[in-house]
Formats: sequence, structure tokens, C-alpha cells
Amino acid sequence: MKKTLTVIILIIISFFAVIYIRTNDNHIYITQFEPTTTRQMMGYGIKTKSGKIVLIDGGTEGDANEVEQYIIENGGKVDAWFLTHAHSDHMGAFEVISKNENINIETVYVSLNDREWYIQNDSTRQEEIMEFLDIIETKKDKIIEPQVGEKIKIDNLTATILGIKNPEITTNAGNNSSMVIQMQVNNKKILFLGDTGEESCNKLIEKYGKKLKSDIVQMAHHGQGGATEEFYKIVSPKICLWPTPQWLWDNNAYGEEDSGPWATKETRKWIENLNVTYNYVAKDGITEIEV
Ligand SMILES: [Zn+2]
Repeated sequence: MKKTLTVIILIIISFFAVIYIRTNDNHIYITQFEPTTTRQMMGYGIKTKSGKIVLIDGGTEGDANEVEQYIIENGGKVDAWFLTHAHSDHMGAFEVISKNENINIETVYVSLNDREWYIQNDSTRQEEIMEFLDIIETKKDKIIEPQVGEKIKIDNLTATILGIKNPEITTNAGNNSSMVIQMQVNNKKILFLGDTGEESCNKLIEKYGKKLKSDIVQMAHHGQGGATEEFYKIVSPKICLWPTPQWLWDNNAYGEEDSGPWATKETRKWIENLNVTYNYVAKDGITEIEV
């Protein structure tokens, strides 16, 4: 009799424990997409507590299939799509997917300079930028241009816009006009930098200082000379997300390590010195992390 009672009580306790854990499951799942072409790319998918889908960039046109697959597997709807800047290794996949009528993109967050500015300051990438601006114009009803300091709440995730376009910065202009987003969930902060460069970093340090501190950071400009060492020291991340292909990770331009002009190795050293717990590098394949 006593035994039966104990068993019943244990069953009741575990039943309520499961319910408690389920209702308090406040996690999100971040997917880092992998390069599916030889080009560098950047793309992240986030699944919130109740299954809403948030995307940050998506990679090149050639990577569209991978991202499309992710969206379809998660119900075919994108609740919020943040596009950091107008370069094809970030928005190419969006361009392709936005034409797929079976995929519903609810809102696109983007901060863009005008055409004249790009012609003057990012002249080598004219064609891809103009093509992107044309597509954005056809989607006007879906586009939101967020302002600095704006908080966007998507389910259990809050995205704070720390930086938008910087028209006054005309060196490395296209990259320095990357949107910078700090996401917050579960008392954790995740910082997405796009391809932000030194000048934009200095502006962020001046404006936010220690508020930049984040548990997880997406390495700026694919880890090759975007943000500064000072900036990463302030962010002081525990986890780094590297949107970096193998050749760039190795600084390999001509078939052997260190033959390239990229600063990836230097950035890797900075991060090693910060005692980061884990580096997720896109070259190693598509990864999902729970936050
Ligand atoms: Zn890029």
C-alpha cells in the first residue's frame, strides 16, 4: 500500500516537473549556415520559443537552396528578415528566396543609403547593389527601416538595433554601413555585426562602451579585418560565430596556407587571447546552437 502511494506521488511530481520545464523553456536555436559555393558568405537562422523564424542575411545567390530548405522545414514563413548591408555575399540568397511564392516573408529590416551614395562610395559593387535596391523597391510594403536604439520584439527574442547605415563614413563604405543588432534572450546577448569595419566600430564604442558586452558574437567581415581588437575586448564573448570558409580561415589564396592578403589569422589570435569557450566556424558545416 505504502509502495503504491509512493509510486503515485512520484508520477504526479514528474508530471508537474515536465510541465514546469516545458513552460519555462525559453530557449532559441541559432543556425549558422555553411558556404555552399567557393565564395565567402554569411547567413543565420533563429528559431524562437514558439517557432517563429528570424533570419540574418543568408549568403550568396548560390547559398539560397540551403536557406530555402531551412525555411521550408520550419513552416515556410519568415517572421523577420534582417539584411545587414547591400553586398551579395549577404543578400544574394534573399533575392532568390523573395521570388519564391511558396515562402511568406513577413517583414524585412534593412537600412540603406541612396543610390547616389553607393555610386560615389561603393563603386566596385555597383551592379549587385543596384539589383538589390530594385528588388527592395518592389517589396516596399514589407520593408521597415529601423532606427538606432529601436527594440524589436519577436516572441521571446528582443533585437536592439545598435547601428544602421553610416552615410558619413566613406572609407570601406558599404561594409561600414552594416546594420548592427544585439539580440537578447534568456539573460544572454548575441551581437550580429555584419561586415562592420573599424570606423563603424569606433562609433559603436563611443556610443555604447560596455553595453556592447555580449555572450555570443558574429565575427565581423567574415573574421578578416572587420572589427578591431579593442572592440572584441569590450564585447568579451564566450562564443564566436565565424561566417568563414576554409580558404579564408587559412588565409589561403594560392593553394597554400598564409598565401593570402587577409587578416583572419590576426583576428584568430585576438580571439584566442580572449579565452573564448567555443568557436563555431562555417567551414565546418551547418551548425545549430541552443541559447
Ligand atoms: Zn561579407
